[in-house]
Amino acid sequence: MTPAAVREAVGNGHEVLVEKDGGIRIGLSDEDYRQAGAKIIDTAEEIYASAEMIVKVKEPQPHECELLREGQVLFAYLHLAPDPDLTQALLASGCVGIAYETVTSPRGGLPLLAPMSEVAGRMSVQAGAHCLELRQGGAGVLLGGVPGVPAAEVVVLGGGVVGVNAARMAMGLGANVTVLDKSQTRLAELDALYGPHLKTIYSNDETVEEYISKADLVIGAVLIPGAMAPKLVKRSDLAKMKDGAVVVDVAIDQGGCFETSRPTTHREPTYVVDGVVHYCVANMPGAVARTSTFALNNATMPFTMALANKGYRAALAEDPYLLEGLNIYTGRVTNKAVADDLKLPY
Ligand code: NAD
Repeated sequence: MTPAAVREAVGNGHEVLVEKDGGIRIGLSDEDYRQAGAKIIDTAEEIYASAEMIVKVKEPQPHECELLREGQVLFAYLHLAPDPDLTQALLASGCVGIAYETVTSPRGGLPLLAPMSEVAGRMSVQAGAHCLELRQGGAGVLLGGVPGVPAAEVVVLGGGVVGVNAARMAMGLGANVTVLDKSQTRLAELDALYGPHLKTIYSNDETVEEYISKADLVIGAVLIPGAMAPKLVKRSDLAKMKDGAVVVDVAIDQGGCFETSRPTTHREPTYVVDGVVHYCVANMPGAVARTSTFALNNATMPFTMALANKGYRAALAEDPYLLEGLNIYTGRVTNKAVADDLKLPY
């Protein structure tokens, strides 16, 4: 929680405990939190022992799961489907696990995932621009070109939240940008938004092959909800790409849309296959944690406040979209997709 979020919670009559130095790396000091009305607590253990609700970003680590108590509300990204150990630990704790990633909205979509897609989409272009430099293995191309020298060709596969944010950034830097999507509705929306500045193309094997072969930078931003990303680009297709071209496969957290993509880290973000630089960091927003924290708080705060003000039972009963976030309820899995994936009773 940001100091502003703490201030709002305190203003609503709640007590907020913040772990000592919790925000220090992103420029939020204990004094900032104190001024917002928080109590600074030395260890996470003490917070878990007394708080009724734990608000955090990432899923709890194994030692944190042991600290969770029966009936304690945990509001965080949980991503339980691929993680049977975490699921079992949360079931054993008896906690009430509400996952950001499955909260829905009356307008459709996943409102607590969208801010991270916005961050990753915008960041993908700055990561790609860096990778295009010679020292990173790239072709030595400047995205915007200069007067008399053409701008780079940027191709975005998937025009959803990540894709539109990537396209916006690349257009802003002066690149020539093409978005490919399978959804005709989405292509029409993008066309209405950006007109002739953005090329929109229907995605199929032929157009993907045609556009990646012309690209300096390809951004992978496809999603089929609840499924692995489709492999739109096969290993053999890399030979058709330019030497020193760059792929930023943002969809890597769902397996990636290039057959040659494998997850990398911020410490070692890239590798090269057949002359094509691959950037496949699975947690891109973590690199810009300050921006990500503020963006996430803006989206989560109304839900955090509803849970705190009404109590979790009434908040969940009154809001079917927040209720979709309930994954674990006192020893039972309460999200059908998670239960099915892990073959657990629902
Ligand atoms: P989204 O649902 O908003 O957009 C996905 C788009 O892909 C949709 O417009 C859909 O029509 C399109 N699509 C589906 N199949 C396609 C195909 N064959 N060809 C072209 N387009 C196709 O999803 P999003 O929020 O933009 O997320 C995209 C991906 O980025 C997801 O896998 C998400 O998990 C991932 N992501 C990764 C990070 C990271 O740090 N690496 C951060 C945030 C999101």
